[in-house]
Amino acid sequence: MKSITKSIYTLLLAAWVLSIGHSTSFAQEQYKENKKVTAVEEYKGNGNFYPVAQYDQVKPGKKPKNVILFIGDGMGLAHIYASMTANGGSLFLQNFTHVGFSKTYSASDYVTDSGAGGTALACGVKTYNGAIGVDANKQPVPSIRELAEKKGLKTGLVSTSAINHATPASFLSHQASRSNYDEIAADFLNTQIDVFIGGGVRFFEKRKDGRNLSKELRDKGYQVLYKMDDISKVTSGKLAGLTADEHNPPMPERGEMLVPATQTAINLLSQSKKGFFLMVEGSEIDFLAHNNHAPGLIRETLDMDRAIGAALAFAAKNKETLIVVTADHETGGLTLVEGNNKAGDVTGKFSSPEHTGICVPVFAFGPGAEQFGGFMENTEVANKMMKLLGVK
Ligand code: MG
Ligand code: ZN
Repeated sequence: MKSITKSIYTLLLAAWVLSIGHSTSFAQEQYKENKKVTAVEEYKGNGNFYPVAQYDQVKPGKKPKNVILFIGDGMGLAHIYASMTANGGSLFLQNFTHVGFSKTYSASDYVTDSGAGGTALACGVKTYNGAIGVDANKQPVPSIRELAEKKGLKTGLVSTSAINHATPASFLSHQASRSNYDEIAADFLNTQIDVFIGGGVRFFEKRKDGRNLSKELRDKGYQVLYKMDDISKVTSGKLAGLTADEHNPPMPERGEMLVPATQTAINLLSQSKKGFFLMVEGSEIDFLAHNNHAPGLIRETLDMDRAIGAALAFAAKNKETLIVVTADHETGGLTLVEGNNKAGDVTGKFSSPEHTGICVPVFAFGPGAEQFGGFMENTEVANKMMKLLGVK
């Protein structure tokens, strides 16, 4: 009897060891198949560079009437410099002479996610990973967009991902979890937001609760449009642009979306007498960086840089607009091991398929830009913008 019990234990132990061994190798296989990790990857520029205009700096010391915040999701310094090399050595970002560093850790983790990262940049509080517009105790905290809306400024959100994804959601919604996608989409109806353009049709029209948010938005006076050509033609009124069922495809399949969306939003918002707040997200830099896809993340970063160029063209003329460009965190642990500015070739090497904890750059242009130098908490980026805009 004793020996039978002993052999059953031995069998169980062997099965347990085998199952661990099996699950580990299975996880690694999955990771290789799904993430398509290639440690080293080259981008070929082929000399296809876009021209980069130089703008006069706006004199410091004045307060901005408008704030435009660009968030490159997952965009670290290597992503920026790889893209600069890919564009023959220059970017619109070079117009930004005030530069600092943002510490991206969250209340729960050294390495943040886009929920906590977006909430820090939107609401000025550190929170737990996965949170949207709530603090570490799950209490709602107003975002700069909501504070601006309350003060009578016009507000807008633009993203290449679904518009209810973590980053834009942080500027509009208050949810314990970033995956409450239907609830976040419904929150668009609870605001007076003037313009939003991004993906996510299915969260507005194919919902568990049967509501058709697009119809509700139309009843509220919004123009709800699905094609960039139609969206670009809007010159007045409230606008909801939903350009994809979920996320827009990455570049180059996406085509011209982020640049005309940014221009359209600025055209509409700048009609405000009291000023405006606009957040524009290059969402998919992060997606491609998770896949360790160097050419993909470079194309995404270049797309956002051209959108920054469109904002600069407005701000340089307007002279009352502060532009801040930063990231919620770095993705991929990217470094650059080879490059050629003349050809636009660059080779990236990744150390992770996930987000990393390294600080990210903050760039500022326009009145108040001088306040964004040195090391700062990611929450300070939001708090500085709120103070400068006079909404807090
Ligand atoms: Mg994002
Ligand atoms: Zn990510």
